[in-house]
Amino acid sequence: MRPAILDSLFAPVTALPGVGPQLGRLFERLAGPLVVDLLWHLPSGIVDRRAAPPIRDLQAGQIVTIRVQVEAHEAGMGRRPYRVFCADATGTVTLVYFNVKSDYLARLLPIGGERIVSGQVEFYNGMAQIPHPDLVLRPDELDRLKPIEPVYPLTLGLFPRVVQRAAAAALERAPELPEWIDPSLRERRGWPGWADALRRAHMPGAEPELSPSDPARERLAYDEVFASQLAVALVRARRQRRRGRAIVGSGALSAPVEAGLGFNLTGAQRMAVGEISAEMAQPRRMMRLLQGDVGSGKTVVALLAMATTVEAGAQVALMAPTELLARQHLKTITEFGTPAGLRIALLTGRERGREHAAIVDALAEGGIDILIGTQALFQEHVAFRDLGLVVIDEQHRFGVHQRLALQEKGSGRGAELLVMTATPIPRTLLLTSYGDMDVSRLDEKPPGRKPVATRTVPLDRTDEVIEGIARAVKGGPQVYWVCPLVAESEVLDIAAAEARHAELNARFGDKVGVVHGKLAGKDKDRVMAAFASGALSILVSTTVIEVGVDVPNASIMIIEHAERFGLAQLHQLRGRVGRGAKESSCILLYRQPLSDAARERLGVMRRTEDGFVIAEEDLKLRGGGEVLGTRQSGLPEFRVASLPEHEALLEAARDEARLKLAHDPDLKAPEAEPLRLLLYLFERDDAIKLMRAG
Ligand code: ADP
Ligand code: MG
Repeated sequence: MRPAILDSLFAPVTALPGVGPQLGRLFERLAGPLVVDLLWHLPSGIVDRRAAPPIRDLQAGQIVTIRVQVEAHEAGMGRRPYRVFCADATGTVTLVYFNVKSDYLARLLPIGGERIVSGQVEFYNGMAQIPHPDLVLRPDELDRLKPIEPVYPLTLGLFPRVVQRAAAAALERAPELPEWIDPSLRERRGWPGWADALRRAHMPGAEPELSPSDPARERLAYDEVFASQLAVALVRARRQRRRGRAIVGSGALSAPVEAGLGFNLTGAQRMAVGEISAEMAQPRRMMRLLQGDVGSGKTVVALLAMATTVEAGAQVALMAPTELLARQHLKTITEFGTPAGLRIALLTGRERGREHAAIVDALAEGGIDILIGTQALFQEHVAFRDLGLVVIDEQHRFGVHQRLALQEKGSGRGAELLVMTATPIPRTLLLTSYGDMDVSRLDEKPPGRKPVATRTVPLDRTDEVIEGIARAVKGGPQVYWVCPLVAESEVLDIAAAEARHAELNARFGDKVGVVHGKLAGKDKDRVMAAFASGALSILVSTTVIEVGVDVPNASIMIIEHAERFGLAQLHQLRGRVGRGAKESSCILLYRQPLSDAARERLGVMRRTEDGFVIAEEDLKLRGGGEVLGTRQSGLPEFRVASLPEHEALLEAARDEARLKLAHDPDLKAPEAEPLRLLLYLFERDDAIKLMRAG
């Protein structure tokens, strides 16, 4: 139950004075549906109304607040605005209104009356004027003037003053809360208390107070990342307390598998294999992320972990995001695993009837050691005799709680979990999205890989590129041609790919195939198989090939409209080539003119092939929320904290969270009340549920 002290903040925005259902919808779009959402909606600027010069000294562009006498009105006519002439002892200024009712203005600015007027000065024909003043007050209303006003990010239909008022009302509802930050940390950083920090962040007194490094903002950012780190630490602590199983291999299978590879493991692979088997041997449940670029050899590492599991008498499930990838894993795992005696099967949604039943039976009897497949693996009736290890090849990144659910479902008896990801993730983001897991990194490529020659070419030279391809494919190498990503429109993506396919088809005949998301699984596999076998020379596709197909003979990658892709995506795509021993190349076709950001991205692609470097650059260029594609990543969306600016806070928060939980893993003690409050404040319901579950 959410503590009652937070109730006023978790009311709908419409509970605020002056916010009805219609404004409520706009606020919901702007910040969120609740009062608390407005607290995190911080000003992006200020208006300083303190300048109060005599009219004689007014300057163009200046924002001023002046005390004037109203002298005369002049009605507007046609396109001429309504004008109100005002004066002080030093000169006159004209207030200018377009499309405003004259009776309203007559009441607002009665002739002979004294008024305080605030707005931005312009000059017109040498005359000072203030078009549509922001404020017109009677001298007795002066207390309504805020010398410095916060400027909030807006959404269409919401006016600055409406947002200001609502934010101020939300602020008034913010209670004093007990402190959850360690006093010595707060003191060292010079951070204000929570309510104080909110007030300061919403009412900045000067420009520098808008900066992420301002103590008030920094404190609020820390609160946010601290809540997220507490949540992942809770997941982690719970896992570590739960009994898993100890899987200790004998080497009887993994040794022959390794011997049969035909190459030596890289140092990074050897280290990862060591970390994994050491962790599996512990009686607690493993939850480990195996991170490495495409081609860094993750599959081989996973295979050795699988072999170890089977040696210990247990079974393995390997889950891939698509059928295509499941089949590819089947190929690799079978190639190296079968000779060593591993019994391997595939289960996707496609096997039906007898075939499906036979697999399910064999699995229950222990006749299958390794079952590879898609989500179909975790259907109700698919029961393992003794599942010891779940390996997930993660393309769609899971959030912390999704991962937890998956593990519950897939592994009644505390199976170990190994997640493989080819997304290079900057260290800071690892903390937020995978803080509950341990990490093994493959930061070294197998020897003998040649760099991929990467060039950028403007789209209007596409014909030359096609001629180049015509020469190249004669010699045998195959070509990927990736078509533009049109935001949020799969239909357009596909149309573009089909148009390109038709064009290349006219030039190269039936050596060209096309795949995209709308093809039926069977058709897709057929085209892919034809490409893999060499029957097709050119494969046109939308980004579906991003999810990892392996055709060593494909050594040319063309990416059309490369300027539309994110760095991570470009990197993934390029990783499809350069896997064999041949020279390979990547051509990034771009449309001119390039935006600065796009130019920078393409520059990074030319400069480096190191996924981790690219990921860090990506973080710098885009900020944290976008790097992983927040929505599908399960990455918490930070609203106050921003990355990389608050990177250091994240690490401090992680350490603090782990420390707190080391003493009190369920946050049950009375002293932990402020921490529980913090979790509620940031709506970390996943973690709260865990606390309740104990
Ligand atoms: P990932 O899954 O990380 O993309 P894979 O495990 O599929 O990488 O490995 C890519 C290719 O490199 C495979 O053909 C694999 O057999 C090969 N490979 C893996 N490790 C090594 C190594 N240490 N030395 C040489 N080749 C390797
Ligand atoms: Mg692989």
